[in-house]
Order: sequence, then structure tokens, then C-alpha cells
Amino acid sequence: MPEVQSSQPRKTQVLIIGSGPAGYTAAIYAARAALAPVLIEGLQPGGQLTITTEVENWPGDVTVLGPNLMVRMAEQARHVGADLVADIVTRVDFSKRPFLVECDSGASFLAETVIVCTGAQARWLGLPNETKFRGFGVSACATCDGFFFRGKTVAVVGGGNTAVEEALFLTNFASKVHLIHRRDELRADKTNQARLLANPKVETHWNAEIADVEGTSDPLTVTGVVLRDTVTGATRPLACDGLFIAIGHVPATALFAGQLAMDDEGYLITAPDSTATSVPGVFAAGDVKDKLYRQAVTAAGMGCMAALEAERFMAHGAHALSEAAE
Ligand SMILES: Cc1cc2nc3c(=O)[nH]c(=O)nc-3n(C[C@H](O)[C@H](O)[C@H](O)COP(=O)(O)OP(=O)(O)OC[C@H]3O[C@@H](n4cnc5c(N)ncnc54)[C@H](O)[C@@H]3O)c2cc1C
Repeated sequence: MPEVQSSQPRKTQVLIIGSGPAGYTAAIYAARAALAPVLIEGLQPGGQLTITTEVENWPGDVTVLGPNLMVRMAEQARHVGADLVADIVTRVDFSKRPFLVECDSGASFLAETVIVCTGAQARWLGLPNETKFRGFGVSACATCDGFFFRGKTVAVVGGGNTAVEEALFLTNFASKVHLIHRRDELRADKTNQARLLANPKVETHWNAEIADVEGTSDPLTVTGVVLRDTVTGATRPLACDGLFIAIGHVPATALFAGQLAMDDEGYLITAPDSTATSVPGVFAAGDVKDKLYRQAVTAAGMGCMAALEAERFMAHGAHALSEAAE
């Protein structure tokens, strides 16, 4: 638990909320711009990549363990002068500048600019063996992990556009893709559905849900799933080497409800080609505003943009951002 502190709010030019690739990159850029940023790490220091194993699409590393990559990003942010604070933001007041940010420990900050990098969490199924095999055959990201399943059999769970797109993407690697959906029709748009159903590598399992994942412990490997018929309740095994769970993501934006504009799924809305939110001086980067790419490198890129925009905002005010975009 963070140490309990109670004192005057600490003043800062840039306050970054979140310590995933977006937050650390924003911290590195803001620190190198001599803005002495403070970064509040949150419950998951390092963000989503700390719960995965090999990452093979981070430029510059042929392969790197997710947790190691995030430790290196934190070290770099500290090295250039960012102050990384182990705390959780519990309340923000964006109604006037400087913005008030309060933390779980009792610490509070008055910030000239805020960069929101609170990310998103994949929805999981909550199966008995799911956590055990996460990163070892169970994944929530085909773009990240599809490459590991060349010539193998995979199962994808879900019925929306994401599930169908992930299943189609996986046909580029896997020899067989099982799509498992608990209803008898997909929610995905018709064009995607037609492409999926016409693909010879895809087999659909209607009215089916996953009861559990099966595999070996040494080495940790998925060998199949148990399917349950949603109509009859009957179960049956389905052999596969990987399970992709594509039932959506939840952006971490509850904290900003009523203060920052969000779309109907809760993702923060930013101006085109910018990280500027609906409140001048508050910027958003990474998965908290991006439901399209959801990658470490895109989150880092947006973190860089947010820091540069915060710097411009501090120097010239909100109008500088629109001028820069012209
Ligand atoms: C299992 C898995 C494997 C993945 N593999 C890859 C891969 O191989 N390659 C790839 O490019 N991408 C991969 N991704 C996706 C990648 O991890 C995300 O796109 C990326 O981490 C998003 O970065 P982010 O900085 O936006 O947010 P996140 O990484 O989600 O970090 C959010 C941060 O916000 C903090 N936070 C939240 N609420 C608060 C609060 N109230 N106060 C303070 N802090 C808060 C959290 O503690 C966390 O540090 C994977 C994701 C998962 C789940």
C-alpha cells in the first residue's frame, strides 16, 4: 500500500497518469523537454505488457519479455529525470487550471497539464485454467501473438467485429481456426462475416461457449478447450494449440466520467491527429483512447505526441495546437 501522505498539493507542470508504454514514453519526452514530469504508476506498474511473455514486435528487440521491456522503459524515464510515483489516482478535477489530482495515499497534485495514459484491460472469460495459460497459449491479441501459431490450430471466442477480424487475421498463420460463439449468429458486420464464412480454414461452432482450457504444465502449453453447448449443456473437447479471447476491452476511464468527452464504449475522445481531449491542457495517449490498434508501439507513439503537445500548450496555450496542425 502506498504510504499515507497529507500535505499541500505538490505543483507540477506535467502530470502523467499511468505507467504503460504511453505513460513512460510521455515521461521520457516531457523530462527531456525539462518539464520535470511526475508519473503516477497505478495498480499495474508497467501496464498490460507485464502480464505477457515474449514480445516480438517491439522495434529494436528481436524478442523481449514484456515485464523486462517495461522495467527498461521505467529506468529510462527515471534516468532522464521523470519522477515515478507508486500511487493510484482516485479523483481528478479538470474544471479549472491548474488541475487537481488526488491519490490513494492522500498525496495530491496541482498540474498545469495532465496526460492520461490509463490504458484498457482485455475482457477475459474467467475460466478456471485461463490465468495459468495466459501468455502460454491463451491470448487476447491476435496481432501480438498470431505469429507464434504458424501451422497450428487455434480457437477464437467472440461474435463481434473484433472476433471476426482476429479470426481472419489468424488464418494468415494457423492451419485451422475455430470460431466459437455462444449464439447462432454473429454480431459482426455482414462483409466481415461473409469473408470469414468463406474462408476454408475457418470452422464455426454456434451455440457454444468455453467451459475451460486444457493443457500440460511442464512445459505450460495449451492442448485444447472444453466446449459447452449453450442449448443442451453438453460438453465436448476441442483440440487446439491456442485460444484467442476476443470479447472486448474496457478502457480505464471511470475516473474521468463527466469531465472528459468519451465515446459510448468509454474511450476518451481526442481531436483529429492530436492527443488533446475535450479539456484544454488534458491529453490522452495509448489504449485509453485507441480501440483500433492497441499496440505497445502505437501507445508509445501517442505518449510522445502527448508530451510534445503538453510542451506546446505550456509554451503557447491551446491555440498553438490548432496552429501546429494547420
Ligand atoms: C497479454 C497481452 C499481451 C500483449 N502483447 C503485446 C505485444 O506482443 N505487442 C504489442 O505491441 N502489444 C501487446 N499487447 C498490447 C499492449 O500491452 C497495449 O497496447 C499497451 O500496453 C497499451 O499501453 P498503454 O500505455 O496505453 O496502457 P497500459 O499498458 O494498459 O497501462 C495502463 C497504465 O495505467 C495505469 N492506471 C490505470 N488506472 C490508473 C489510476 N487510476 N491511477 C494511476 N494509474 C492508473 C495502470 O497501472 C497501467 O500502468 C498485449 C496486451 C496484453 C494484455
